Amino acid sequence: MSANIYEGGTAGLPQFRGGASKTAERPVSRRTDAERLARAKDVILREVDGAHATYLETCIRCGMCAEACHFYRATGEAKWTPIYKVQPLKRLYQRELGPMRWLHRLVTKDVTLKDLEDWQELVYDGCTECGRCDLMCPMGIQISPMIGIMRRALAEADLLPKELAAVAEEQKRDGTVFGVGRADILALVQQLAAKGIAVPVDKERATVVLLTSAVDLKGFQGSLEASARILNRMGVDWTLLSHSIELLGTGESLRELNVRRLVDEVTRRDAAVLILPECGHAYPALRFDSAHMLGEPVPFEVYSAAEYFGKAVQEGRLKLRKGAGEKVTYHDPCKVGRHGGVFDEPRAAIKALGLELKEMESHARTNYCCGGGGGQFLIERAKPLRQRAFEIKMREVDDTGAQAVLTGCNSCRINYLNGGANANWKTPVRSLVEVMAANLE
Ligand code: SF4
Ligand code: SF4
Repeated sequence: MSANIYEGGTAGLPQFRGGASKTAERPVSRRTDAERLARAKDVILREVDGAHATYLETCIRCGMCAEACHFYRATGEAKWTPIYKVQPLKRLYQRELGPMRWLHRLVTKDVTLKDLEDWQELVYDGCTECGRCDLMCPMGIQISPMIGIMRRALAEADLLPKELAAVAEEQKRDGTVFGVGRADILALVQQLAAKGIAVPVDKERATVVLLTSAVDLKGFQGSLEASARILNRMGVDWTLLSHSIELLGTGESLRELNVRRLVDEVTRRDAAVLILPECGHAYPALRFDSAHMLGEPVPFEVYSAAEYFGKAVQEGRLKLRKGAGEKVTYHDPCKVGRHGGVFDEPRAAIKALGLELKEMESHARTNYCCGGGGGQFLIERAKPLRQRAFEIKMREVDDTGAQAVLTGCNSCRINYLNGGANANWKTPVRSLVEVMAANLE
């Protein structure tokens, strides 16, 4: 057993780049500027609906969303105010869809390609789609989904930041990202077999299906090992899918295609449960968006790994060895926590491990994002901004007096590890699932 119970699992700093790119330094569009602008406008006009219209009409410009956003709070710069990030969308709505459009066509400037180029930094570098602003707006305005529309519009105008364009290109070309795929999964399974850890791969039928991700394969292979150890100990009938089906979505059609493929794979096996890897991006796609995409709920339950294993602890199906009351804090990943409402299960696991949980000032639903979500951690030019936002996390963690940070998302871990390394910050950051696996009773 390790000196400290939280030392279980991998602790290194993996290197991620924006895809094994074959693109030029700056992606070149083959479309004319007029076509790019028209495509972007088309996305906005198609996606803005009655709910968005209500949001846009009811903003009272109170500025409370600004304080909610880690990028504004870290810098105090007005341009990072959440609602400002959707200004082009608002102008287009006012001119083309709103009840006063006849007036706005006279007084409100039309949206240009230059506007969209200027907004690229605001919606990609300056937003992790964490949803904290949505929570804090007194008018209940859901700003982050509108930023999502802006992102899709910019992607249609070939205005993705070059690192995200490289990831999108790789995904389209090779079906995966970060240069890893099925061969890496099978190689890892062999390594685990050599260590005596059985990983059943692509079984025809299984009660539980486990998925891994490119982030895990590239940087956190201990996550798959941990999940395998726990599932084997629980005696679950499970299988790992050997296709690292990524559910990233710069192009909605690709995301939808991948969701459909995955749902088919799980349904074909008559599985009752799909466990998603410790990575935030698959969670909303499967848990929430799939029903909308497919027109019906998926016929199985969807859990993040920390959620599923924490639930097993709550239900007495998984027993953990207790530590000596070391102080830890828990970082709630935005997609699983604020969006998914998963707060109790990881905390039940922390309690079962005998750790003393020291909550950050902003935790659970109001937790601040690590600063690198939504692909932001890949954007090189955004590094100084990301670091400033991460300082909020460092301060909040330090204030708890915790000896370590645990989390249930490896994308968050990347940002913690990078941000911590940049600041020579020594607090260990660990996967909750890996710590659980290292302390099975
Ligand atoms: S908090 Fe809500 S109402 Fe206030 S400025 Fe932001 S979006 Fe508008
Ligand atoms: S979703 Fe998060 S990062 Fe984006 S504007 Fe809102 S608070 Fe800021």
